[in-house]
Amino acid sequence: MGALEGRVACITGGTRGIGRATAEAFLREGAKVVINGRSPEKGAATLEEIGAGDDLHYIAGDVKQRSDCEAIVNGTVDKFGKIDILFANAGGASNHAPVVDLTDDAMQDSMLWNYWHTFWAMQTALKHMIPQESGRIITMSSVEGKVGKPGISIYVAAKHAINGLTKSAAQEVGTMGITVNSVCPGAIETDIMTAEGPAAAESMGLTYDGLLDMFAQESAIKRLNDVSDVAEVCVLLASDAGAGITGSMISIDGGTSPY
Ligand code: NAD
Repeated sequence: MGALEGRVACITGGTRGIGRATAEAFLREGAKVVINGRSPEKGAATLEEIGAGDDLHYIAGDVKQRSDCEAIVNGTVDKFGKIDILFANAGGASNHAPVVDLTDDAMQDSMLWNYWHTFWAMQTALKHMIPQESGRIITMSSVEGKVGKPGISIYVAAKHAINGLTKSAAQEVGTMGITVNSVCPGAIETDIMTAEGPAAAESMGLTYDGLLDMFAQESAIKRLNDVSDVAEVCVLLASDAGAGITGSMISIDGGTSPY
């Protein structure tokens, strides 16, 4: 019997990268899973590729919109009857620049994509989890949710904000059978990294390969982690074994962050 047998999970941004790996790990452990992305075509292709039949469902929506976040979470309940696990995973940042050159639009976009999306999805999920007196919420922060980095403050600020929201929510619902934690991966070479990494590297005065090497050298393990390293921690947090963990910012960065 899997660690998540009978559970229903909702993952924002689950067609590739960390979200998809986590969806596959949750399915392996017996959960029914809803994944999300912006393109119905990519969603249909992902369902086909994963091949989990009726246990996996896709809901299209842009997490930068409150109404879409509500529809993704409420749609999970409509499809499978409840929501036990929310993984607010989608996010990222573009238009990196030093603080002195940052535009309001760039900051606003990063906050919508990361922070506001997490808040909207979390709030909607809590409205289901509080009455059922159980639930697991996992938010997606980053090593950059714990430490500052030059040139990528729009990402650093948004991921710090997610950690603040996570810690406070955990205190509010701790006696209601609900845990709220963030995962804080170090660099992982997914599509968003190959897409946004070169510009981020440039804003830090590095090449893309130099950026990846810098991330590896900053860690204790001197290499980058893989999507499965994050997915397996999410399984732990979502399972009965994770019942005693809440309000934590779990580093999955190979020993990069100091706490
Ligand atoms: P990815 O680009 O491989 O996958 C992102 C997923 O989110 C895709 O399914 C994409 O379709 C979806 N998505 C993106 N924007 C969306 C939107 N506006 N609405 C709905 N869906 C959307 O990225 P990833 O590397 O797996 O990143 C996932 C999360 O992990 C992000 O929040 C990112 O900040 C965080 N993270 C990534 C790394 C890394 O190095 N890759 C490190 C730390 C944290």
